[in-house]
Amino acid sequence: MAAETLQPNFYASAAVDRLGHLRRDEQWIAQRLADPTTRILPVWRTHNLVIAGSMPSAAWLSVERAGHLLGEVREFAFLGFHESVAHFAIEVSYLEDPAPVAGLAEAAAFTDLRTVGPLLERNQGALLAYARGMMHWHARHRFCGVCGHPTESREAGHVRRCTNESCGAQHFPRTDPAVIMLVHDGGDRCVLGRQKIWPPGMHSVLAGFVEPGESLEDAVRREVAEEVGIALAEVTYHSSQPWPFPASIMLGFMARATTTDLNLATDEIETARWYTRAELRASPENEVFRLPRRDSIARRLVDDWLAEG
Ligand SMILES: [Zn+2]
Repeated sequence: MAAETLQPNFYASAAVDRLGHLRRDEQWIAQRLADPTTRILPVWRTHNLVIAGSMPSAAWLSVERAGHLLGEVREFAFLGFHESVAHFAIEVSYLEDPAPVAGLAEAAAFTDLRTVGPLLERNQGALLAYARGMMHWHARHRFCGVCGHPTESREAGHVRRCTNESCGAQHFPRTDPAVIMLVHDGGDRCVLGRQKIWPPGMHSVLAGFVEPGESLEDAVRREVAEEVGIALAEVTYHSSQPWPFPASIMLGFMARATTTDLNLATDEIETARWYTRAELRASPENEVFRLPRRDSIARRLVDDWLAEG
């Protein structure tokens, strides 16, 4: 299936030209930070600035409005060009009260992207996810993992370099690969499960982090064996999704089972069973049973599998 030729997943494929070759050009970056058309996307403690409403939208600050902030923020990152203007993320988590920053953009508030993501225009959602992911990385990599000295931002926020001259290690933005897979029987049934910590009623496909020394296909087979005790035949790549909650990329697969008896790993999985397409199409979407959230690749896998039969 060439899923990537269809609609991209939520938070993916922002129409941003990242212009990575210009990140080291400090003069050019400084000019962009002084350009009145530049847009500044503040991030406060993982929250993005959003204008609420039935059709929420991303809010940004002009350079003029952001003025004093640009002089005091600890971290920023050049995101690239979108709609022909430069976009930067800035970190304002040092403020106890972010309301004055939100007040610089009319009717905006710092908002968890997860609460509004499905309602945002796709490019805006992707831009906010990018900004959130970059600022999260900076917040979690303030010290060198090699020698423990402080690190400092370089290359317009895309590298952190150790300040210990005898070390000098460079650290790059990271995103943690996780596999997510719809397990089906080659016919009309697929496996959905749920974890105790999920919202009431939510059932979803299986997922787990890729471990060192594994291919993605290895990780799919291991996770499915561990969580529900099923063996797999072919494992087929579907599509991927940036998932900055807090720092993952979800790699989606369709996987055909060769066994059907479920043997649950009860410490991870509260319940799991086989569902038919008819059952999923009749999902009541309530606290007894609901499908995964609409902006997730999990939902995309379910919807695309439903469409095949
Ligand atoms: Zn170091």
